[in-house]
Amino acid sequence: MALLKSDPCRRHTLATRRSNQTHIVEPKKFFIETFGCQMNLHDSEKVAGTLTQMGYVPTDDPSEADLVLLNTCNIREKANQKVFSRLGSLQKSYGTKPGAKVGLLGCMAQMEGVKIFERAPNVDLVVGSSSYSFIPELVEKLEQGSRHVIDVTQDSDRLFETYADSRGNPYKAFVTIMEGCNRFCSFCVVPYTRGRERSRPGDRVLSEIRRLASEGYPEVMLLGQTVNSWRDPAGIIPSFAGLLRQTAAVPGIRRVRFTSPHPSDFHPEIVEVMETTPQVCNQVHLPVQSGSTEVLRRMKRDYTREEYLRRVEFIQSSPCDIALSTDVIVGFPGETQEDFEETLSLLQRVGYDQIFSFKYSARPGTEAFALGDTVPEEEKGRRLAVLQEFQRKIQTQRNEQLVGRELEILVDGKSQKNASELMGRTTQNKIVNFPGSPELLGKFVRVRVSRAFPNSLAGELI
Ligand code: SF4
Repeated sequence: MALLKSDPCRRHTLATRRSNQTHIVEPKKFFIETFGCQMNLHDSEKVAGTLTQMGYVPTDDPSEADLVLLNTCNIREKANQKVFSRLGSLQKSYGTKPGAKVGLLGCMAQMEGVKIFERAPNVDLVVGSSSYSFIPELVEKLEQGSRHVIDVTQDSDRLFETYADSRGNPYKAFVTIMEGCNRFCSFCVVPYTRGRERSRPGDRVLSEIRRLASEGYPEVMLLGQTVNSWRDPAGIIPSFAGLLRQTAAVPGIRRVRFTSPHPSDFHPEIVEVMETTPQVCNQVHLPVQSGSTEVLRRMKRDYTREEYLRRVEFIQSSPCDIALSTDVIVGFPGETQEDFEETLSLLQRVGYDQIFSFKYSARPGTEAFALGDTVPEEEKGRRLAVLQEFQRKIQTQRNEQLVGRELEILVDGKSQKNASELMGRTTQNKIVNFPGSPELLGKFVRVRVSRAFPNSLAGELI
């Protein structure tokens, strides 16, 4: 994704007058492309905000950028390869601007560090996912002519100092509440790329949310790798559920979402907050990864199938009709056909509203890497296709239950299906496409659902 909403006040040329002559100095431009998760998307917003404060302006065209940045993902081998192939294809473009610099940010940058300069010597800058607050100093070094500038520090006390002044959506804002992870699931690189769990102080989270509300954002999404493991370092806000309550109480905030909670720390108190606080959306993304207890044990997920389903039971017994989504990996080392069928039966049992599913990708440095990659690629592909088709039917059925219902949506953009329509999301995070005029953007409206598809709904304005 190329970033970001440009700030019209900053989209200017700098004019200086000397000796009755006007010299127009074009501001420098930056281009950012983001790979990976919402944490990365939000990090790109923060970097864009920092560069904008430094006088750079965003561009969607890499060939006119003075600074070309790729914010990378390391979660799967494929994501890693994509970055280098994108780097190659951008080379022609950014090469056309004399003196343009190129940088890699994010998890792959963190993990690979200086090795990136060996593999891709044309890269000028490497910044790890905990070092964005150092961007001003690092970019200044580049501007002064340094080559191969790098910062992959993980334990900076400046970690939460970077704020996003440029955001990808004018109505919904991401807010980082914690970084890193202590769980060390056997397949995952996050504890190595993002480091150990560090929570952002509650007063600083709330002050960013108050600022966002005063800027007119009605919806915030609290972000963290295991977001519900958040603990206030100052000990003032007693729990993650307490933070949800206080966020919802900020005047102007009408919707609060969060992602991704870890099932082991998902307690009934969070559901109680949803039931008593209308601003907290009726949506939970609860990553399961596999429906087989044996695979979960090898994944080091800290819960069994039954324990996961107990969480699902208390979520689904809420009168709020909470939508559930999840992540699934197929083809984990040693996954048998029976294990895979247990995953299918779990999907059936839960009836998820959405899933994000992937083929297992062995990542060097993780514990599972030593288990080998025992399920053949072809078999992984087959299982993934079966799983996705299975889930498609479940989602269609879930969405069909909403046909004829009146729902409130926040209108947050143009429809991706039909450019002449708008789209919005319900409290359950369902996408509704509907005919409407652009003045409705950013507004809460009611729609009647007329048709259901696997991944969206069609509706009419009431
Ligand atoms: S909980 Fe597991 S999968 Fe999630 S970020 Fe932490 S180590 Fe990775």
